[in-house]
Amino acid sequence: MNTYIEKFDNTIQNSFFTKLPLKEQEFIREKSLQLKFSHQELKQIIDMARDLSMWNEKSIINLFDEHTQKKVVFTRLRKAYEEIRSKPNSYENFELKNIPTEQKYTFKTEPKEGFGLGLCPVASEKTRCCNLLTLDAVESCGFDCSYCSIQSFYNQNTITFDSGFADKLKNLNLDQNKTYHIGTGQSSDSLMWGNREGILDALFEFARENPNVILEFKTKSDNIKYFLENPVPKNILCTYSLNTTTIIQNEEHLAASLDKRINAARKLADCGVKVGFHFHPIVEYENYLHEYQEVYEQLTVKFQPEEVALVSFGTLTFIKPVIKQLREREFRSKITQMPFENASGKSSYPDATKVEMFKHAYESFAPWHSGDKDDVFFYLCMEEHEMWAKTFGYQYATNNDFEQAMLSAYSQKIGQEYLI
Ligand code: SF4
Repeated sequence: MNTYIEKFDNTIQNSFFTKLPLKEQEFIREKSLQLKFSHQELKQIIDMARDLSMWNEKSIINLFDEHTQKKVVFTRLRKAYEEIRSKPNSYENFELKNIPTEQKYTFKTEPKEGFGLGLCPVASEKTRCCNLLTLDAVESCGFDCSYCSIQSFYNQNTITFDSGFADKLKNLNLDQNKTYHIGTGQSSDSLMWGNREGILDALFEFARENPNVILEFKTKSDNIKYFLENPVPKNILCTYSLNTTTIIQNEEHLAASLDKRINAARKLADCGVKVGFHFHPIVEYENYLHEYQEVYEQLTVKFQPEEVALVSFGTLTFIKPVIKQLREREFRSKITQMPFENASGKSSYPDATKVEMFKHAYESFAPWHSGDKDDVFFYLCMEEHEMWAKTFGYQYATNNDFEQAMLSAYSQKIGQEYLI
């Protein structure tokens, strides 16, 4: 047996080779036997081929150069791939594939070890962070956002409720002389399950019993029935993750449409619930600034600053497990088709792109940060310290300073004393 064929077969074992179209498999095998790519080169070629098909771009076969020297061929291939990766995305002729049209999952309720309350799973000292405490009321989410890092934590098809959740919440012993900021919506969407297993009963009671807790429900769902039918404690915030319709239709599968989210937030504000908006991730693609502008303007028209506690901005950051998980899926997404730069150990856009999108966003909300007492609290999520000064013209020296500024702003907005 030709040793290179053995090497080739070994390399393709733990790769996405068999997920490539047969034509591409044959082509890569033939080129490898001819040019003798190394283990690493072959792995990269297979990943590149996988990405190009996920992005709905041309096949890797069309990127190969006819040169006879391996080094030249691989260098030119890498360059051609990077050019496609870095060009501004367009969703114009993008065809979705294998996108779920309905939510299919099973529910499980079981006693869970421990209590899902802890520091925000994506917080880091390398980024300026708000010290949010996250509460996992439910495990796994019924929506399917392609960029979501949570998907790498849980089994997507099983939604798990903790049968001991309400009791654990009731027995949580917090310092009554301190203001806490606790958020649900990291391990699953906060509202899409309604009051299943009594989770909203438990959370509302927790808020009533602990007025020093600012409890944030983060969501992409318009399932607000429970909020409209029950008195909502004033220390509850309902915050919507929003995006342009282009990104919602192509990358946030099964989640509510933009209009449904904004209308739901409007109905909640009409009931006196303080709302908020998260633009995370802001995604760069052709004409994106214009499309985001339209969303920002809609909000400043439909909401008064006194009704809105916060607006946050963030963008795509990828860890390797999520990129691997995306390559494993048989679907189409353009979410990783972007110029990657290292951002605190994760992959994200170059700083210049971030400054462009964040400054544009902040300036679009000028009416909500005019120096008035009802100003909305703006912040960057998961961004490096310096990005704040480049975006807002100021930055916090520590995460605690950031947290204090945030919680005193939220406390003022809900008409409550801030307890440090
Ligand atoms: S800034 Fe974002 S990532 Fe950091 S702790 Fe707050 S919510 Fe989590």
